[in-house]
Amino acid sequence: MVLLALGESTEKEPGPEAEAEAEECAICFEPGTFVDLPCSCVIKYCTACWDRALATSVTVRGRAQCPSCRAAFKVDFDTASASLVFSKDPLGTAACDWRSQLYEKVRHVQIRLLRGFGASTESQSPSCGRCSLQPHCVCGAELEHISSRSRILRLLEDMDPGWRARIGSADEMVERLLDSSLVTCDLCDKVAIRSKGLWTCKNGPHTVMHPAAYDVCESCFEKYSGVHLEIGDAKSAPRKSRSVLCWDRSRVGQTCCQACSVVLGALRGRQPRSMLG
Ligand SMILES: [Zn+2]
Ligand SMILES: [Zn+2]
Ligand SMILES: [Zn+2]
Ligand SMILES: [Zn+2]
Ligand SMILES: [Zn+2]
Repeated sequence: MVLLALGESTEKEPGPEAEAEAEECAICFEPGTFVDLPCSCVIKYCTACWDRALATSVTVRGRAQCPSCRAAFKVDFDTASASLVFSKDPLGTAACDWRSQLYEKVRHVQIRLLRGFGASTESQSPSCGRCSLQPHCVCGAELEHISSRSRILRLLEDMDPGWRARIGSADEMVERLLDSSLVTCDLCDKVAIRSKGLWTCKNGPHTVMHPAAYDVCESCFEKYSGVHLEIGDAKSAPRKSRSVLCWDRSRVGQTCCQACSVVLGALRGRQPRSMLG
């Protein structure tokens, strides 16, 4: 979770002309599965756009509001179906009032997901196929292992995409924030940026399920999944790699699973060193 009031968002809201269309989403204009709106609007929103719009509203206005009628909702989580529940909130309660309860409920489901991830890595046959496994966040997006530095940069981007232009020394800013307690683990509540890396949801703050982003510290990740991974320096972390278990090939044996270390070791033996850097 990011313990900071987030700044303005550049997200566009639907114009009035969108209301004429009945069978497409008012925001992305795509047909799809529409949300059963908790307000009395007849406008259609697809699940993804509705979720994003509410998350944006939490960021910008501090409460979850319908993008068209501005009715406010309390957001709750149904642990049985692992889905969000919206209820009308005529008082317009600030998001901080329901947010901690929401994160608390989500926590149990997230722990279950990490245990499941751990179990699935164990049950795989020892081949590189296991490297395609990716731990998931309760919102459905992937959790990714990034350096604490990258996490701070992402946070700044989420807050204000133009932050670099406004801040004189970006590096100094990042260093300062690395020492702060800005990013906490959503499972143990401890500061998550003290170690080199952490796990963060690719959805960032763009879902109302976790409007302050979702972070899991390395020790919680290991505790629940049983999977231990170390992170290299931010510079050496291959951002484009889709694999979590083999994402740093220059450090075979340290970051890779045992089965893949064997495979990579064999490859390394056969190929000229120059090819592997
Ligand atoms: Zn849409
Ligand atoms: Zn509405
Ligand atoms: Zn998520
Ligand atoms: Zn933790
Ligand atoms: Zn592997």
